[in-house]
Amino acid sequence: MTARRRDVLLSAGAFLAAATLPGRAGSAQATGAAGGPPEVVLSGGFVVSMDPSVGDLERGDVHVRDGAIVRVAAAIAAPGVVRRDMSGCVVMPGFVDTHWHMWNSLARGLPQSRLGPFGKTMAPLARAWTPEASALGVRLAAAEAIHAGITTVHNWAHNVKGPDFAEAEREALAASGLRGRFAYGYPQALGEDAAMDLSDLERMRDRHFARESAGLLSLGICARGPDRSAASVWRREWEAARSLGLPITAHVASDRAAAAMGNIVVMHRDGLLGPDVQLVHATHASRDDLRLVAESGSPISISPWTELEVGYGRPAIADMADAGVEMGLSVDNMVLAGHADMFGVMRITADLARGLREDQGALTDRRVLEWATIGGARGLGIAQTTGSLTPGKRADVIAVRRDAINTAPAGTVDFMLTHAAQPANVDFVMVDGVVHKENGRHTRVDVEALLAQAQESIARLRQKAG
Ligand SMILES: [Zn+2]
Repeated sequence: MTARRRDVLLSAGAFLAAATLPGRAGSAQATGAAGGPPEVVLSGGFVVSMDPSVGDLERGDVHVRDGAIVRVAAAIAAPGVVRRDMSGCVVMPGFVDTHWHMWNSLARGLPQSRLGPFGKTMAPLARAWTPEASALGVRLAAAEAIHAGITTVHNWAHNVKGPDFAEAEREALAASGLRGRFAYGYPQALGEDAAMDLSDLERMRDRHFARESAGLLSLGICARGPDRSAASVWRREWEAARSLGLPITAHVASDRAAAAMGNIVVMHRDGLLGPDVQLVHATHASRDDLRLVAESGSPISISPWTELEVGYGRPAIADMADAGVEMGLSVDNMVLAGHADMFGVMRITADLARGLREDQGALTDRRVLEWATIGGARGLGIAQTTGSLTPGKRADVIAVRRDAINTAPAGTVDFMLTHAAQPANVDFVMVDGVVHKENGRHTRVDVEALLAQAQESIARLRQKAG
């Protein structure tokens, strides 16, 4: 991999020298005139903009300058600007993942053990976890996000055992170059009657997020919420987050017992839902609950693969859609999900909704595609920045091959993206105008070295955990 990576770096010079380099280029290390990412026209792809005013273009160009989308049109003449040939690809906004416990990516594929189910298996590992392991987990997850065309993540850091853990995750996420929200959390072993470290949360906000522009990241909190902590605790956490102006996320109504607690009604009654409060899973929310959620503007993030794997049950997806809830999709965690595959998440979302309703029309492929892009961005409050190929937004753009063994003949583009394509078909990934994947390969991560580090780290943690 080292040699191949060197090839990619070397080709950057060749890329700059050529006005057009169909199908292959190594622009990742190149810079634009102002030292930012290079200006480029992504040319001739099937453009799925996810912006109704731009629409789909069977053959279109996307002009990117200074990390922003300048124009999307059938044919853009931009003399002197590098063109990258995107024929054979769908060009679309990067996926927005709305809930991802990035830290535990190192524990991929350990959903249960002789210790018992997921929670019991993860507990000793979480206790053994180190800040270095958290940072490495975030780096691994971020690299997989790039692989899969996910350009925005909501990092749900729910094993913050001290300020050093929080800093390690935030730093690793910032260094990844992904767009995202860092949701500051709590130690896995924290008692239900104890609050998370709200003073360190404030410190982090003041230190890294006080400026208008904190780079590609924003800050929020992930709380255990009413289902998993005492009323006095979660209410205090809500109050603290809102007084700091930070958005909140919590797992709610995930299983039947949690849903039976009726906390969505309580939160709605007390004004503790809203666009700033994301609900995760809500697998067993009733239709009445969903009506309240929609009315409040709280977005819901679902992760059907992990909800099935861990035994939560059958998510009420079609009911959520019918209620008009702002929906986002998520891969959740690699321990249960196995891999970060937004295509797979879209597929199971659409097909579960239809199967459970016994109605092929219960949810369209395009609606699911919206949830994976612009819907997720709206739910995270960043739709003015990303989620669609709209002139003026930042350039978070991916290209997905529609001429591969598993995608051609491509049929309808909506079906191809939601039912045929896989992460390996993601040919090109750009975040904020910076190229992260080109010709199907990472341009900024030494994947081989990262995987070696990850394997070594999880082996050590498992040994330590006993
Ligand atoms: Zn979760």
